[in-house]
Amino acid sequence: MKPKVKIVATIGPATNHPDSIASLMDHGVDVFRLNFSYGSYSEHEKTIETIRSIAEEKRKIVGILQDICGPKIRIRGMEEPMEVEKGHRLVLAKEAEKEAFTISFPGIVDDLKVDDEIFFADGTVQTKVVEKRDTAVVLEVLTPGRLMEGKGVNFPKADITLHALTDKDRDDIRFGARMDVDFVAISFVSSEKDVIEARKIQREAGGKAWIVSKIERTAAVENIDAIIDESDAVMVARGDLGAEAGLSKVPVLQKKIIKKCNMKGKPVITATQMLTSMVNSPYPTRAEVSDIANAVFDGTDAVMLSDETAAGHYPDEAVDTLVSTILQTQEFYPYYKTFETDPGEAFPHAAAALAQIIPCDFIAALTLSGYTMLHLSKYRPKERLFAITTDPTLVNKTALVWGMEGAVTIDEKNFTSEHEMVENLLTKHDIDPDAFLLVTGYLGERISMGKSIRHIHREDRLGKRQ
Ligand code: PGA
Ligand code: MN
Repeated sequence: MKPKVKIVATIGPATNHPDSIASLMDHGVDVFRLNFSYGSYSEHEKTIETIRSIAEEKRKIVGILQDICGPKIRIRGMEEPMEVEKGHRLVLAKEAEKEAFTISFPGIVDDLKVDDEIFFADGTVQTKVVEKRDTAVVLEVLTPGRLMEGKGVNFPKADITLHALTDKDRDDIRFGARMDVDFVAISFVSSEKDVIEARKIQREAGGKAWIVSKIERTAAVENIDAIIDESDAVMVARGDLGAEAGLSKVPVLQKKIIKKCNMKGKPVITATQMLTSMVNSPYPTRAEVSDIANAVFDGTDAVMLSDETAAGHYPDEAVDTLVSTILQTQEFYPYYKTFETDPGEAFPHAAAALAQIIPCDFIAALTLSGYTMLHLSKYRPKERLFAITTDPTLVNKTALVWGMEGAVTIDEKNFTSEHEMVENLLTKHDIDPDAFLLVTGYLGERISMGKSIRHIHREDRLGKRQ
């Protein structure tokens, strides 16, 4: 069996090279994430072209996820890294001076009040405001650690309202649309309005990417249902979420968010610190491996690597660890889940149910919008899953969908027969099934013959049945 849970890997200085990208693909990466907090357009363009051409050469379905950095607040004006001890006092000012540093959204300093908490570097250095001055605040360090230019800043309790899309983000989304990226991840979403706006910019620039909402703010947790409804996919962004909501809340939030996404048939990625120790070590910790397995049991569609592949010393080994842990865990996965079924998803649900009763090597979903494919995957059948689609932009998107092993497109204009279409799928993926199921969604006015489920035996295909 192949891993049912998909693997997203971040490209960075350690891996932004054709050989490394090819190797990551060979080890099992399904989706490459490009972090738009760093890098120029010409660099990203080169990376995208490299990924596309290697995937084509290897005949692999590989997705590209553009991660828009959003209003990530960072330390600015700190010339030298600082080791800070508990009880130290620091000055955070609107403008950096000799004794003071600032942040990338300095206007926030005006909104801070005594007792507000400010966390730095993914929540490792915790401080609180002890004094307010004209254009600065004095912070007291509560937990020691290291501060340096560019490290992230979180305001867990303060009421900071920053718009999710900065001017740079808008330009980045337009650039991604021109590059035909498959997914755009929006950071620091607070409500469904951010998602709607991002989608509008993407579509106006000619893109067809799926919009992935990163859940990393407490406001997003509060608005989770509406956000999932407006999104094509979701990321449990545990880095910032842990800093904003509190680390001990993350495991339960992860379970709740994944469950909601599963129920709605929306792909969900579990992200951040899955294998942090492998940045510097060829072996993971027991706790990390358990975390991966638990994400699989929670029902995640994909797991993601960040620093492990972007800046780590063992990117291929980190991917191997994901693959072997997913494979071991899925032996015990509770396949074929039941949900309350909307009439619209009755056919994919019925196909998954039929596969439990009759012989079936795989289930193929004939899908126009992706709905039939997503709602087939939703029921988590153990059988291999494939998609056949009239929309070529859906093929790479299957790289993020639980269990979807492959996809082919059919040319709507030269559409001949379902028979030919099925043979294309079998040839492309080199499969020769005894029997399989074909579930057909609505395929558009031109070729749709209504919805159906067929059970096709080898004899039916080869025309030998008496
Ligand atoms: P980031 O998002 O890596 O872009 O910060 C993921 C997270 O916060 O977990
Ligand atoms: Mn984040």
